[in-house]
Amino acid sequence: MGAVREAADPRRRPLYVTVAEQLAACPWQVFVRRFLRIQAPPDALGELPGIDARLVGATVHAALEQLAASQSVPARLSLEEVAAARRVELSWPEESALASTVHAAAEKVCGEEGIALPGFPHALAALALGGVRAACAAEGGRTVAVLGVEVDGACSVVDFAGRSRTIRFRADRVDDDGGALRLTDYKVGRPISELKAADKRARDFLQAVRRGERLQAVAYALAAAVLRSPAEARGRYLFLGDGLEVREFEVRADDSTLANAFHEALRTSFAVLDAGSLFPRLLEPDGSGPKRCEMCDVREACLRGDSGSRLRLEDWAKAKGEGIAAVPASPAEQAAFALWQLRAEADE
Ligand code: SF4
Repeated sequence: MGAVREAADPRRRPLYVTVAEQLAACPWQVFVRRFLRIQAPPDALGELPGIDARLVGATVHAALEQLAASQSVPARLSLEEVAAARRVELSWPEESALASTVHAAAEKVCGEEGIALPGFPHALAALALGGVRAACAAEGGRTVAVLGVEVDGACSVVDFAGRSRTIRFRADRVDDDGGALRLTDYKVGRPISELKAADKRARDFLQAVRRGERLQAVAYALAAAVLRSPAEARGRYLFLGDGLEVREFEVRADDSTLANAFHEALRTSFAVLDAGSLFPRLLEPDGSGPKRCEMCDVREACLRGDSGSRLRLEDWAKAKGEGIAAVPASPAEQAAFALWQLRAEADE
């Protein structure tokens, strides 16, 4: 009976790195959305679909995948398979061919989303074209030695109980960068840092990993290090927004500071999952309301807006931080506070 329950427990499913990032941000949101699979009900009187960053991002990703597929780059294989594959010199097409690829991608995304409004794909393509151009500009318009796109991989983390736990991911592109294995994640949102000084950008990147926010690139580098030497194993974010001076945030597998921050964030997240301490993060450590709550699609199933709950969470975090406790903390409470502290300590 115990074995059956264990297998049915959604916390035992493979943990994707993007879900681990969401877990660090708000465990309750992951519980409601991913484990209970509760969605906001469709609103029959709702507004017509609008173009948001998610749709633009999906179109940019689809266009870049299509661009690679048209040049016979392998897609949707494992990291081990593409690492052993023949490299393809990916070139960037002329503007007219680029525009028609993006338009076809926009039509595909609209079809998948059930959006049948005339002119919608055209408007979506116009917004996504800049992101695809930025991907080309980030490579200086030169060809790139690509091994695969939409590549599945995994790395391991040892949890607090000493067990090896698997973190899965899908990388947008894998390159052979002069013998190094480089995995890329495209992003259309705000970059990790817009500061001009490289050391300050590196500091912001480390803070984001410590907070559990930006774990993908480190997971990529650590997975690549199983197949190459750590110095030749890299993960990176490529930000494709308009007008950015710095688009690339890269990590090598031999960067022990980033790797340690990654392991700590993941160990803490696994402890929260195992203990079931999936609390709503109703406030940030500085007492402000999290921005993600405004866009949260499960906020109706949350205590957001309940000032009593918010106050209790604030008092609890303060008391725990000052070491004031009426009774010794249970394992579940310890796990919750460790996750709370990830952000508090990273922000300090
Ligand atoms: S509204 Fe905020 S606190 Fe509530 S589940 Fe969503 S993100 Fe978490």
